[in-house]
Amino acid sequence: MVKCPHCGKPAMSLLRKSALGPGRVLNCQSCGKRIAAHWVGILAALPAFLGGFTAMQSTSLPLGIAAVAGGVLLMALIQTFLVPLVRG
Ligand SMILES: [Zn+2]
Repeated sequence: MVKCPHCGKPAMSLLRKSALGPGRVLNCQSCGKRIAAHWVGILAALPAFLGGFTAMQSTSLPLGIAAVAGGVLLMALIQTFLVPLVRG
């Protein structure tokens, strides 16, 4: 579970946080206040962009698919474990 910046209680599951992109706001499931992902979460999209770019440059389809899948996976991991929550 991810801690709420307001009440310090569990705010959402890691799975929900992984889908919480920049600019999105959710309500804490403990206190109901608004929480958002820190703007640094924008950087989490970089691996996905790089993966897509690599896929476009690649002449090998499996390699391109692997690059995209790896980029998206990395983005979800960064979003889940590195991007802090702030008061929305
Ligand atoms: Zn809360």
